[in-house]
Amino acid sequence: ESILKTEKLVKIYGEASGDSSTTAVDGVNLEINKGEFLAIMGPSGSGKTTLLHLLGGIDKPTSGEVFINGEPISEMNGDELAVFRRKELGLVFQEFNLLDSLTVRENILIPMILEKKPIEEMEKKVKELATLFGITNILDKYTYHVSGGQMQRTAVSRALVNKPSILLADEPTGNLDSKSSTTIMECFEKVVEELQTTVLVVTHDVFAASYCKKVIFIKDGGIHSSIVRKGDRKQF
Ligand code: ADP
Ligand code: ADP
Repeated sequence: ESILKTEKLVKIYGEASGDSSTTAVDGVNLEINKGEFLAIMGPSGSGKTTLLHLLGGIDKPTSGEVFINGEPISEMNGDELAVFRRKELGLVFQEFNLLDSLTVRENILIPMILEKKPIEEMEKKVKELATLFGITNILDKYTYHVSGGQMQRTAVSRALVNKPSILLADEPTGNLDSKSSTTIMECFEKVVEELQTTVLVVTHDVFAASYCKKVIFIKDGGIHSSIVRKGDRKQF
């Protein structure tokens, strides 16, 4: 069952015919199925972030199409895309992107408040995710009082509260030390195995990528190659 699919996806920055144009994504055909846990790796400037932004409907392709649960997103208007992003997509960033005037609990609640969910449901969801990711003891702390690893686990919780079909993470371990990176990748494993949610991680971090079941290598805006993990963790 395909969650996310692209067809001949192209993104050119600048005037397509101009001297200063850059082809950041160059005809990518990608299919991501339900329950997959994959990493996209590639050198700096190879188009990883641009591809992730196109997949998330944050940026528009120059040509080609992105299908989410079979629906072409180019046919959605702005409102439909916003609803889709809030409901079907969870986003996690390198910089965490939390609101530091709010507590951990409040940060996690935001997407559910926007969806006008009942209070009991919101409380239940926060408890469930905080327990899964080991952050129940910091729920009432302000985010500037918690560690980087705890901030990222808060961000992962926030990304999952509306039960998206896919979680997209851009360099999620980029600001974390090795121990916190391990914890975050273990959290993503739980997301895949216990919440049955698809996870796509864009990363430079070979150690982080080793947790994923499939790694796709991007070079010059195109898919260069991929590897699939055969057995237990780290057995490629
Ligand atoms: P990566 O995430 O792999 O480092 P990016 O997607 O950020 O790659 O960038 C791919 C290419 O597109 C690079 O050459 C980069 O300079 C260029 N690029 C990215 N964003 C823009 C932009 N907003 N305007 C112009 N060029 C861009
Ligand atoms: P990342 O570290 O995630 O690859 P970058 O540092 O490549 O991100 O890019 C950060 C921001 O700058 C992005 O919004 C990207 O679109 C923009 N950007 C990257 N390269 C260029 C460029 N050559 N011209 C204009 N904007 C760019």
